[in-house]
Amino acid sequence: MDKTTVHADSSFVNKTDEEWKKLLPADVYYVARQKGTERPNTSKFEHSKEIGTYYCAVCGNALFRSDTKFESGCGWPSFYEPISKTSIIYLKDNSFGMERTEVECGRCKSHLGHVFNDGPPPTGLRYCINGVVLDFKSAQEAQKKYDEKNKQ
Ligand SMILES: [Zn+2]
Repeated sequence: MDKTTVHADSSFVNKTDEEWKKLLPADVYYVARQKGTERPNTSKFEHSKEIGTYYCAVCGNALFRSDTKFESGCGWPSFYEPISKTSIIYLKDNSFGMERTEVECGRCKSHLGHVFNDGPPPTGLRYCINGVVLDFKSAQEAQKKYDEKNKQ
């Protein structure tokens, strides 16, 4: 179990649509629970090169490491590999007349984005993720928290 997981209680992720709607900011709810897509080139994470970890903004599940992030030019934060095999769920998505693979958070099943086969090595995959459902923690921040904890 990842110690950085914010909400260890599984009841947290089993909510009705009404409950999610009340709980989440409108833009997060739209993407995460209604499978919406944020406008391209609007995410502050798109060109970020900070070292750290990207978490699910809904449940705190660790999703991607900054060293697997790359500039895809597609308009959304892009990664070539998730943090672990179980951090993400894959679903067939045939909406809009396209054959795509949707990716959801492995923990709370929030919609994150899609994965495509035109990414860089070593995986050749491009995880095209809506920045609004990502929560970033820099490595420095994490280290600081860890140090503070160990001082007490
Ligand atoms: Zn999640």
